[in-house]
Amino acid sequence: MAPNSMAEIRNNLERLRSQIPAGVSLLAVSKFHPVEAVREAYGCGQRLFGESRVDELAAKAQAMPEDCRWHFIGHVQTNKLRRLVPHADVIESVDSERLLRLIDSESARAGRRIEVLLQVHVAAEETKTGFTPDELLQCARACANLNNVTIRGVMGMATNTDSTERINADFAAIAETGRRLREIIPGATELSMGMSGDWPLAVSHGATIVRIGTDIFGSRM
Ligand SMILES: *Cc1c(COP(=O)(O)O)cnc(C)c1O
Repeated sequence: MAPNSMAEIRNNLERLRSQIPAGVSLLAVSKFHPVEAVREAYGCGQRLFGESRVDELAAKAQAMPEDCRWHFIGHVQTNKLRRLVPHADVIESVDSERLLRLIDSESARAGRRIEVLLQVHVAAEETKTGFTPDELLQCARACANLNNVTIRGVMGMATNTDSTERINADFAAIAETGRRLREIIPGATELSMGMSGDWPLAVSHGATIVRIGTDIFGSRM
C-alpha cells in the first residue's frame, strides 16, 4: 500500500462528491500526507481539511491559500494550544471542560473566536477519547456562554468492527447526543461522524460532516 498518485486523489474526490449528499460537508483528512497532496485536492476545489497534529496543521495552513478551512481532529496537547488556535477554524476533538476553557482563553488572547465540537465516546475501544454523553451535556451547560468559543456540535467515532449492527448503534448514540446538546445550545447543529470505512452509515444517521482520509489520499506512511 502506498499513498495515492495525484490522479487518484482527483478521481477519489470526484467520486466521493458524487456520492455524498448535498448538505453534508466532506472534510478531507490530509494527516501524514505531504502538502503536495493537499494542493492537488485544493486544485479539485477542496477547501476543507482535517489534521490530527498541531505542528502539521500549522505548517500546512501556512503553506496553503487563505481560503482553506482547517479542522483539528486529534488529541490536543495543551502546551501546543497557543500554536494551534491561530490556524484552526474548528477544533473537533474537545474532550474536557478544562480544555474548552483553555481554548477560550487562548482564543481571547489571539483576538479570535474559534468553533469547537465536543467529542463523545461511544465506541467499544478504551483508547478512543471523548466525553461520555452525560459528561458532554454537563460541559455544554457549564460552557454554553464562553466569550471566545462557539460550541457547534458533536464529533464521534464508531467502533472499529465488521459488525454493521454495532456501527449503527454507535452512530445512533452519537446522533442522540447531538439531539440532546441542541436542547441546551440550539445552534449546535453539526454532527461530525463517519470515516473512510463507514461514512454512508453515518450519513444515514444524520452526519453533517464526514471525515475521510484513506479513501481520498491512500494509506498513510
Ligand atoms: C484519521 C482520522 C480520520 C480519517 O480516517 P480514514 O479511515 O483514513 O478515513 C477521521 N477521523 C479521525 C478523528 C481521524 O483521526
